[in-house]
Amino acid sequence: MSHAFKPSWIESTAENLGIIPKLPDKHPEHDLKPVESGSPDLANFPAYEDWDDWAEYEAKDWATGKTKRYSLVPTVCFNCEAGCGLLAYMDKETGEVRKFEGNPHHPGSRGRNCAKGPATINQINDIDRILHPLKRKGKRGEGGWERIGWDQVLDEIAAEIRKAIQEERKDEVVYHVGRPGHEGYIERVLNAWGVDGHNSHTNICSAGARLGYAIWHGADRPAPDYANAKFILLISSHLEAGHYFNPHAQRIMEAKNEGAKIAVMDIRLSNTASRADYWMPTRPGTEAAVLLAVAKVMLDEGIYNETFLKEWTNWQDWLKADHSDAEPIFENFIEKLREHYADYTPEFAEAESGVPAKTVIEVARRIGAAGTQFAAHVWRSAASGNLGGWQVARCLHFLNVLSGSVGTFGGTLPNSWGKFHPSVPNPAPPHKTWNELHFPDEYPLSHYEMSFLLPHFLKEGRGKLAVYFTRVFNPVWTYPDGFSWIEALRDPKLIGLHAALTPTWNETAFFADYVLPVGHASERHDLVSYETHSGLWIGFRQPVHREFLRRQGKPVTFTYEANPGEVWEEDEFWIELSWRVDPDGSLGIRKYFESPYRADEKMTIDEYYQYIFERVPGLPEVAEKEG
Ligand code: SF4
Repeated sequence: MSHAFKPSWIESTAENLGIIPKLPDKHPEHDLKPVESGSPDLANFPAYEDWDDWAEYEAKDWATGKTKRYSLVPTVCFNCEAGCGLLAYMDKETGEVRKFEGNPHHPGSRGRNCAKGPATINQINDIDRILHPLKRKGKRGEGGWERIGWDQVLDEIAAEIRKAIQEERKDEVVYHVGRPGHEGYIERVLNAWGVDGHNSHTNICSAGARLGYAIWHGADRPAPDYANAKFILLISSHLEAGHYFNPHAQRIMEAKNEGAKIAVMDIRLSNTASRADYWMPTRPGTEAAVLLAVAKVMLDEGIYNETFLKEWTNWQDWLKADHSDAEPIFENFIEKLREHYADYTPEFAEAESGVPAKTVIEVARRIGAAGTQFAAHVWRSAASGNLGGWQVARCLHFLNVLSGSVGTFGGTLPNSWGKFHPSVPNPAPPHKTWNELHFPDEYPLSHYEMSFLLPHFLKEGRGKLAVYFTRVFNPVWTYPDGFSWIEALRDPKLIGLHAALTPTWNETAFFADYVLPVGHASERHDLVSYETHSGLWIGFRQPVHREFLRRQGKPVTFTYEANPGEVWEEDEFWIELSWRVDPDGSLGIRKYFESPYRADEKMTIDEYYQYIFERVPGLPEVAEKEG
């Protein structure tokens, strides 16, 4: 459609003086949605039907009415675990990404992003990024590199893995993840290799909070239904800055607009705390004392959910174990529980934490009144920064249990309820090995790998590594004792081969033998599913250049053919590597990487995802309907 164009007085003057070019009487035909105030067609986002051919004014040349045509390709942000939806605006003339906006159809983020989402454009255009595989020249850490091809990378690394597996040195093959983000993919690969090779950063991050939840019901994270909550308690949270920032923040705001009250337990007067109804600035490490005082008030005042406690807790077992002399009736359970927490008075909590006793009592009453619509969350900080921090999560979830708000509308759900588990092709059975470098004997209760001990164990001679992958992982910089990592990484007797899979240079990659460029959000395949709210969803992170070429009728075999330079992705990398580890199938590995559709042929990445998507309940039907 055409829009009448009336220049402003300033524009007319500038035009007459020749400061700007002559303006058109009318803007040319284009597909822009009218955005006039009050128009029923007012649109925040391009309609889905227009994604293949979307026109916008050229931002730097709008005065002449010049438009730019885009192909909009959806993908998923890779800059935190929230996995928000992104739309890549691909210039139809050049095939380049010009900007990223939110994807309105993503159920978690609903079109909104934090600043890091659209900033993906800075990452892909980073002039210092690594665009080709590099191999070390000279000694480790000397800084000498040469460019090599992916074939050489695959052959050389596969040979070392094959040798380690053949010589029964399976514990020497290790994959260490920093930024996670693809559902179970690497576990499938490591199972196929038969190695207990997974290591993670989790033990210096979320393991403490996870343990606190896991011992309640096995699910080791909370998934609060903020949007429908009547009372929200956030610990160490800056509008949930730690995790799921954007999806959580927008739902907390919705609840607040509907009248929900918010309490924030944080020593900082964060933005969130400043907007909360109750700010509880605890002295670090005293959060659990406050939470138990809240529990005591709820028990003393009878503002707990009797039905839930009766049906969902093993109160009889506890009575029998700790108070065998008491008659096993619910009233005695409550009585003994009150005795158990008798010391945790609001005054005790105030003396410990600095939070006024009055506030503790008010918050307890708010939780009691919210009942099953009480949503709460703790992530890192209080749970990871203090000795015994796991008790913070445990005590916080105790309040959910007392109020009966576990798994309820407006309550706090086990994360596993919001996690999609894909059916993958040719899954390998779980490996049968136990790597004591990850789970050492002396820490039988460790929740996640004791990853911070790895360099110390290597230096003590408790083991060595033949092939060590660091995946978007930079312990030299992020772990407390970076120099211990440098010592281990420098020594080829401790780590025979180190391959760093990373989109950018980092301090750990500097000590690698191979630096392997992997893609940012718009350059890789991953399945993503996280507990951003009360709902189950999967997101598909996809390489947008590859998809753009497919739409142009120019499909590629490998993603690095479409990406900038030779930037690759792990999905295809692991298939190709595994195939070369076991080229003739004699190790029993190759079969897990064969096509589910073509006998004895290598699986392609399209086949891998086709297999999964064909098995997502409801998806094939919707796809067929939409053509
Ligand atoms: S909240 Fe996380 S996933 Fe969402 S846009 Fe920000 S960085 Fe990306």
